[in-house]
Amino acid sequence: MALIVHKYGGTSMGSTERIRNVAKRVAKWARAGHQMVVVPSAMSGETNRLLGLAKELQPARADEAVQRELDMLASTGEQVSVGLLALALQAEGVPAVSYAGWQVPVRTNSAYTKARIESIDDARVRKDLQAGKVVIITGFQGVDDQGHITTLGRGGSDTSAVAVAAALKAAECLIYTDVDGVYTTDPRVVPEARRLSTISFEEMLEMASMGSKVLQIRSVEFAGKYQVPLRVLSSFTPWDIAIEEEATSGTLITFEEDEKMEQAVVSGIAFNRDEAKISILGVPDRPGIAYQILGAVADANIEVDVIIQNVSHDGKTDFSFTVHRNDYARTVDVLKTKVVPSLGTDRIEGDTRICKVSIVGIGMRSHVGIASRMFRALSEEGINIQMISTSEIKTSVVIDEKYMELAVRALHRAFDLDQPAA
Ligand code: ASP
Ligand code: MG
Repeated sequence: MALIVHKYGGTSMGSTERIRNVAKRVAKWARAGHQMVVVPSAMSGETNRLLGLAKELQPARADEAVQRELDMLASTGEQVSVGLLALALQAEGVPAVSYAGWQVPVRTNSAYTKARIESIDDARVRKDLQAGKVVIITGFQGVDDQGHITTLGRGGSDTSAVAVAAALKAAECLIYTDVDGVYTTDPRVVPEARRLSTISFEEMLEMASMGSKVLQIRSVEFAGKYQVPLRVLSSFTPWDIAIEEEATSGTLITFEEDEKMEQAVVSGIAFNRDEAKISILGVPDRPGIAYQILGAVADANIEVDVIIQNVSHDGKTDFSFTVHRNDYARTVDVLKTKVVPSLGTDRIEGDTRICKVSIVGIGMRSHVGIASRMFRALSEEGINIQMISTSEIKTSVVIDEKYMELAVRALHRAFDLDQPAA
């Protein structure tokens, strides 16, 4: 018997029929003797619907007063879900009680629409568990120290579930979703992509931060910080499959690196088209230039990802970096108004048709020549690399967007990810 947290995404909660299936699945775990805490998302489409209504009435402003009300509104989707799920469990003959974030309470800071969880009081939940009830807690929301309702950012229910699991020291947090685990890459791009039965937490963090949409990145950070055993698995299996089978399905995010080191050098290929490249040509090569350029960009609250500066000729050099595509126009504007006038050049070039492709694997720490294998695979496809960045467990390249799928497929093959693991 163990304390287990289940998280169900919006699709799993999408209709009363599906909620009944969730209830049957949870009931199966409860009847097997486990103490169960469930964190569901809003019914699919509901958060979008609510925020759409808000936009009709208040399209323009985004100040704090507005954001407070957006959270007040968006948090209701999850409140509907927990109430319905509790009713469905009771109808299955399983005692269940639901709570909104503020009732637990799940305490957050006051950053409306992107709040961070600070603490979770486990007293009330434990009491209910001891009384033999399934406890259902809203995902995505919390309460700040002034009693205002906050939300954690889109996809935040993953983080709620992991945080609840950490607070209760749960044996495992199972994230039920509409994919059956974490894949070597997106199967829509590479049909040969395979589900990983395990992935290290650090690799998952890199995959999540670079485009894999399986888990909200903050939930992975949280799992790492509190060492929460986390499993991503399908909510589409029949609810009555054997618990033993269900409990070992999907992908387990592990903290035991040594085991993993023996396996593949590269575990996955991540990619995204979220970024845009900006180059300033002919900037003077002297101390303080990078700071002058990127300082102004940072002051505008724009995040920079990949950066390169070339060797200089005649005291001039080219400086390139990438930002999120949504920030592209604003970045160019900042450069034109705040930076370029004092640089003695006005040659700014931008390219929004780029993509970033990365290989990820903790095996890269202990193996040499991984990056060159990547570059060879790309060159064999005639793909030009525009920028490169590396970290201990990943190598990323920026290339022309039109070669993205070709690159991902070539790399998937080059690192033997098409083959089932030995
Ligand atoms: N309902 C919220 C959203 O759609 C939170 C979540 O589903 O994780 O973003
Ligand atoms: Mg989600």
